[in-house]
Amino acid sequence: MTRLLYPFFGFGLLALLASCAGPVASSSGRDYWGHRPGPRGFTTVIIDAGHGGKDSGATSKPTGQQEKDLTLDMAKRIRAELSGNFHTILLRSDDTFVDLDERVARANQYGDAILVSMHFNSGPRQLRGPETYYWRVDSHGLAVRLQRAMAQASPGEHSNRGLVRRRLRLTRNPEIPCVLMEGGYLSHPAEARLICTPDYRQRLAVAIAAAIRTQATIGDAGTGPLPPPLTAPPSRASDKRE
Ligand SMILES: [Zn+2]
Repeated sequence: MTRLLYPFFGFGLLALLASCAGPVASSSGRDYWGHRPGPRGFTTVIIDAGHGGKDSGATSKPTGQQEKDLTLDMAKRIRAELSGNFHTILLRSDDTFVDLDERVARANQYGDAILVSMHFNSGPRQLRGPETYYWRVDSHGLAVRLQRAMAQASPGEHSNRGLVRRRLRLTRNPEIPCVLMEGGYLSHPAEARLICTPDYRQRLAVAIAAAIRTQATIGDAGTGPLPPPLTAPPSRASDKRE
């Protein structure tokens, strides 16, 4: 019911309603813009392991590990943590290249679902810590939860940008709530060595799964006001490096 009212009452009311968890219907189903509160009660979690095949992503300087292998390992760990509660889908389950537009197309086959994409970062040597990217309004609460969860699982990992609103192909183009996580910097020597350890990756995966379960249970409650709706065209391969 409430979703029908949004066009008439405007975004201010939408934000107000979303801030008091009770009466707002869960966002579910596909929606082109995602100008709506975050999802609650979703049943499917689509997990995207960044990169793959010919696209190896970043390389860990101290350990030589490649981002594509670490993201696949994380995706499988997150799936294992969630599988009792959700229908889970991996957009790739082995070392194959999947184009970003193809990943979006596959994600858009599902309605009552969210998409989380796992990456590890690379940048100037001093940067460290997890970051989380989102673009759609209905992805904000989930992004806040995922960033908090990763930050708590990685004490001491800071001086990062935290939560970032950025239009990427996997944050703008899917028609379901979608978030891209950077689990830490492979370019930072200490953090790269931490990411190298299975125990740390498991800790991250457990925290990420818990954040997803919380989102499914209470929606956006406690994640702060919704960001303003933005209208921008879908992200394209030519836009920028992703
Ligand atoms: Zn990446």
